[in-house]
Amino acid sequence: MISITNILIYSLFILSISKMSATRTAYKGNILAIIGMSVALIFGLISIKPEYQIYAITTILFGGITGIIGSQKTSISQLPQMVALLNGFGGLASGLIGISESINLTQPNFLQIFIIFTGCLTFSGSIAGFFKLSGLIKISDTETLHSTSIILLILSIIGSFYAYNGEIEYIISFALLSSLLGFCFILPIGGADMPIIISILNGLSGWCTTLVGFSIENSLLIIIGTLIGTSGSILTYIMTKAMNRHLLKVIFAPLNQHKEDTSQHTEQDIHKGTPQDAAFLMENAHKVIIVPGFGMAASGAQHELGNMANLLIQKYKVDVKFGIHPVAGRMPGHMNVLLAEADIPPEIIYGINEINPEFKTADIVYIIGANDTTNPLAKTKKDSTIYQMPILEVEQAKRILFVKRSLAPGYAGLDNPLFYEDKTLMLLGDGKEITKEIVTNLENDSK
Ligand code: NDP
Repeated sequence: MISITNILIYSLFILSISKMSATRTAYKGNILAIIGMSVALIFGLISIKPEYQIYAITTILFGGITGIIGSQKTSISQLPQMVALLNGFGGLASGLIGISESINLTQPNFLQIFIIFTGCLTFSGSIAGFFKLSGLIKISDTETLHSTSIILLILSIIGSFYAYNGEIEYIISFALLSSLLGFCFILPIGGADMPIIISILNGLSGWCTTLVGFSIENSLLIIIGTLIGTSGSILTYIMTKAMNRHLLKVIFAPLNQHKEDTSQHTEQDIHKGTPQDAAFLMENAHKVIIVPGFGMAASGAQHELGNMANLLIQKYKVDVKFGIHPVAGRMPGHMNVLLAEADIPPEIIYGINEINPEFKTADIVYIIGANDTTNPLAKTKKDSTIYQMPILEVEQAKRILFVKRSLAPGYAGLDNPLFYEDKTLMLLGDGKEITKEIVTNLENDSK
């Protein structure tokens, strides 16, 4: 009976992951995952001793209610922070199981010690990622943190030998050292490398679950953990390729710090435009490519963007395409989720390799809240965090419409020379408001 249930649960999770690989089927994937998790919880409850069931029910209710409230309060633009937190909770759960297993045994084995280490490291590293993504912590002195991490690593290694004796105070001290290490290790990493870190932590939380599965002989945890671990690792590989960064450089290179590039330019150096100008240019164009970035998510402009694309296609017969950089926004797939929410057809959404050859034939590129992912300095500025990151070749379009609130740099802290080009019209303001005004103009103008 149990094994049939397990097969059902594995199948639901595997099917759910396969559905999540495309925006169109991602919703179904989520539903399948919810069903899989519910079945797992119900059968997990049935299989434990009745005297413990009340604790399990309380825990499930607490976790469930917290999850529902958390998801209601989280806006789409805060999803990356939410993902970081969820990775962290996965690590925390594994770490706590490692601790309790170690305490219950007369002498913990290597596996339990390793679970405590990786679980606590994943937990605190993810919390550090959460703080960084939320902008709650900005680090200037990365060198001190690097040195502290090395000291903590040495102390953790020594601590692991003490924890091996199974004494509770040593186990707890070892867990605390590992947690501190995770926090200090992740904190100095920043800027353009944060997406990779989030996906490494995602993979790590999966591998921790797998180790716990081996430790407590639970095949469900082994399979689910491996699914999460491999998908996180594959995503890490895809992202390091997309950003042209070597994994070891991401983790250890000191140039990962968040550097603000103090631009000498003022608003006098740019050509300012209005939504009316933008509407006029786009309705008279043959081909428009829309490039969204983090600012599109922050302003919640996706529905207005959908309306704008619709009007251009239907009323003005313009060839409209969307170009998405793999790390646009604050997490992989960030833009795709938002565009899907606005019912923008996936057929007109293109990835970087497909859209780059199209820019030279585009009359207009409409960049909304994207900055680093379009910055040509990625090709030339060797000391920048985005050096050698492939960018969207927007500079090849005939005209550039750039929507953002100011001349401030993007996440990597780098000024963007595109703002000051003659062919660029800066539309300074909130992404949603500007796009809304363009939509009004497109509606009112006659063809
Ligand atoms: P950027 O962070 O480079 O730029 C976003 C721009 O949006 C800013 O320059 C900002 O300018 C503008 N903006 C912010 N709010 C608004 C608003 N309400 N209306 C209009 N504009 C707004 O974004 P990109 O998407 O181009 O690049 C993503 C960056 O984030 C990359 O460096 C990437 O490495 C990094 N990153 C990516 C992750 C991922 O997985 N996708 C995760 C973590 C980091 P202004 O303030 O002037 O308005």
